[in-house]
Amino acid sequence: MPQPSAAQVPPALYSLIGNTPLVEVTRLDTGPCCLFLKLESQNPGGSIKDRIGLSMIEAAERDGRLPPGGTIIEATAGNTGLGLALVGRIKGYRVVLVVPDKMATEKVLHLKALGAEIHITRSDVGKGHPEYYQDLAARIAADTPGSFYADQFNNPANPLAHETTTAPEIWEQMGHQLDAIVVGAGSCGTVTGLSRYFEKAAPDVVFVLADPQGSILAEYVHTGRIAETSGSWAVEGIGEDFIPPIADFSRVRHAYTIADQESFDTARELLAAEGILAGSSTGTLLAAALRFCREQTVPKRVVTFVCDTGTRYLSKMYNDGWMFDQGLIQRPRMGDLRDLIG
Ligand code: PMP
Repeated sequence: MPQPSAAQVPPALYSLIGNTPLVEVTRLDTGPCCLFLKLESQNPGGSIKDRIGLSMIEAAERDGRLPPGGTIIEATAGNTGLGLALVGRIKGYRVVLVVPDKMATEKVLHLKALGAEIHITRSDVGKGHPEYYQDLAARIAADTPGSFYADQFNNPANPLAHETTTAPEIWEQMGHQLDAIVVGAGSCGTVTGLSRYFEKAAPDVVFVLADPQGSILAEYVHTGRIAETSGSWAVEGIGEDFIPPIADFSRVRHAYTIADQESFDTARELLAAEGILAGSSTGTLLAAALRFCREQTVPKRVVTFVCDTGTRYLSKMYNDGWMFDQGLIQRPRMGDLRDLIG
């Protein structure tokens, strides 16, 4: 029998994206509730965004927006870039990413190792400013013939990945017994995709938003008002200064605003108590999930996410020196780990 050529064989990598484990939190106070964590950190690129890296590339290939050998361009906090670079480089595409300068060095080094071209831009400017990461990516795409601007904030293949993979996995893993899901929102692909699935599969499932202090999303959920100005926050990957076009918050019933301090403390507590090394947005989600759980008067089954691995925040949130510099701990216990690595 003729052997298929390498190009016809889907890389083993694809079978590793998704189908992530779900574990119960057993060593933190969850009030009367059972709280489960979907470990998206176990995806091969280390985050929930591998799912949309694959789905956005395959959708663009199908509808002809991404020709063989073409260029993929994206504005990203890092994780979408990692998903796109991981899948895209294997498929032979050039990958160009615009990343705001507040994002962890580990993510940028990982992107470079994957062969992506990186443009670092300012974190302290908003939409409409030429150096704003999304505006800059759109401009680079317009100036690059034959390029595909993935544009996760507008791309229907983003929520679709969560509607068709993340959501049914959760529903099966929970044995069809689920009361609430706590989500963070950046591009809003996760909240929109999960909402669409559960609207049909289990409309009683309550959605809870975990939002960093400074983001405009929680206020939007509570009041419908879109604030004109936003604050700044150090947690990466969630919170927004605008409402992404793909956002659907219609199923979100509660929103918690979580300060950086509480997010970082909670992520560090998760590592100490459960041995799970999670990223900064997980701290925000878990803090909101714990508040929600402790406020309940009857037992509920609740799911939230470990959105990405904590290995990409070792020089920041898990580094006492950095935490001290940010005024987030009183005194460094371990010294500044950056001195060790130079
Ligand atoms: N957590 C992290 C670490 C992320 O990088 C992202 C995506 N930017 C999210 C959560 C939010 O997911 P979504 O874009 O689907 O709203």
